[in-house]
Amino acid sequence: MSESVQEALSRVFGFDEFRPNQEEIVSALLEKRDVFAVMPTGGGKSLCYQLPAHLLPGLCVVVSPLISLMKDQVDAAQATGLRAEFLNSSLLVKDRRRVFQCLENNDLDLLYVSPERFAMPDFLATLKQAEISFFAIDEAHCISEWGHDFRPDYLSLSKIVDHFPKVAVAAFTATATHQVQDDIIKKLQLRNPHLTRASFDRPNLFYQVAPKEDLNMQLLAFLRERPDESGIIYRTTRKNVESTAAFLQGQGIKALPYHAGLSDKERKAHQEQFNRDEINVVVATIAFGMGIDKSNVRFVLHGDLPKNVESYYQETGRAGRDGDPAHCCLYFSPGDTVKIRYFIDQIEDLVEQKIAISQLNKMVQIAQANACRRRNILDYFGETYPKDNCKTCDICTGDVERIDATIDAQKILSAIYRTGGKFGAVHIADIVAGADTERIRRFGHDKIKTYGAGSDRDKRHWRRIIDALIAQDCIRLSDDQYSVLQLAPKATPILRGQAPFRILCQKETKTARRSLSSGDFSAGLFDALRTERRRVARDLGVPPFVVFSDHTL
Ligand code: ADP
Ligand code: MG
Ligand code: ZN
Repeated sequence: MSESVQEALSRVFGFDEFRPNQEEIVSALLEKRDVFAVMPTGGGKSLCYQLPAHLLPGLCVVVSPLISLMKDQVDAAQATGLRAEFLNSSLLVKDRRRVFQCLENNDLDLLYVSPERFAMPDFLATLKQAEISFFAIDEAHCISEWGHDFRPDYLSLSKIVDHFPKVAVAAFTATATHQVQDDIIKKLQLRNPHLTRASFDRPNLFYQVAPKEDLNMQLLAFLRERPDESGIIYRTTRKNVESTAAFLQGQGIKALPYHAGLSDKERKAHQEQFNRDEINVVVATIAFGMGIDKSNVRFVLHGDLPKNVESYYQETGRAGRDGDPAHCCLYFSPGDTVKIRYFIDQIEDLVEQKIAISQLNKMVQIAQANACRRRNILDYFGETYPKDNCKTCDICTGDVERIDATIDAQKILSAIYRTGGKFGAVHIADIVAGADTERIRRFGHDKIKTYGAGSDRDKRHWRRIIDALIAQDCIRLSDDQYSVLQLAPKATPILRGQAPFRILCQKETKTARRSLSSGDFSAGLFDALRTERRRVARDLGVPPFVVFSDHTL
């Protein structure tokens, strides 16, 4: 090889040194090995295939999902001095001829194509005549139904290895759990690939979860403490985006809405005003994301529960790109879980439905977890966080306190057990509190052993314990309209004294005051679940899936 890797890095790309992981990936590709690399956005994935594309003889075929981005990518590569072109449906006939000519003459380092090309026989035939150095699949998670951005077109990439058995394939993505990773490797048929997983940790982001009570007031309190900062508030529906934005404007906050229901012109205008710091806050649906290129976003607030951890990570990831501290707060209400679950239940494809449920459960687990949020998020991406205390999440900083409530939990669980799992929260709390009600006398529940075992505390206390037990999966609600309490498997070790039960309380710290919250972390869970169920049942006449897709973006 005439030019060394180091020389090419500085002469062609103008960089003094490699970023983490780049050099190993480049070496693997120079050795014609398959590669699978997970690196966060901005990590420098392009260089990993552009540098070997420059050094190796022949053409590197880059698969990229967005036609709109392809031209920019090619322009950038050409500006670097690489011989790059793209092929997609937007190309004029004469340009397509020119590109095919380059292909036949072996005149290219890089050819960017959209995935659907691989379903076209004439393209494959031309490619088979060309000398190919390797294939680079960008945004490779699009091939996996388990990812958050599945694109059926990507499935045709499975055939690459069959068509070109001697050519290496490199897959790149910024988001992949181990499950998605395994799926990508399997679908692309990668052969013992060189594996790289860069860290997903964003040390400058503070993660917080606060109970959602009076959301607009909570948001306002947060914004009032940070009058000069800019940030994003995510809400699930257009309607909620509009109402939150209007409320904040009415309170003198410089906020604008952003969702797919606005005209292109309005969306663009709002985005530009945000980028130019003319407004502080964008209240947005998940439609706001792709085009954000603002490095000083100081906070990302979630007014509603995201559907999965990948979305949560991507959305919070828009904060603090400049590396300075930024705050992420999720306002969590168990009712949101029930809402999302309800929509998931409308999904017809059972596999898709199962995936959506398991993704939602992971998100809820993180919101309710008793342990470091950062550790949990990283754990979701298959990464082990090395420190005991991250110092930048509400749990680790002690904004949330864990209190042992094992004995109280045992009293509730035992009352449920002794009454056969046939009663609701009010009645169970009455039994433990030793209330004298007609129902208790009628069922003879004043005779059971747990009756009055907790008469030293009021009913509200026992309702909170019940909520916490529901939140931590120790109690289930029956699926019928009665919502009776039943023991879940996790209740057994607690009843037997083999496992502790702890509840989370928000301390009256600065953060807690800021979110205007107090009391039990999971207060009102039972009521929220039941109200939501009733509401959903009442609304059953409405075609829910249509409502969902129309109002979500
Ligand atoms: P990704 O695709 O992983 O999100 P890019 O390939 O777009 O990231 O790179 C992000 C930025 O980092 C680009 O501006 C790129 O020029 C720059 N970059 C990449 N590698 C290096 C390097 N070794 N040294 C300095 N800057 C780099
Ligand atoms: Mg990229
Ligand atoms: Zn932590």
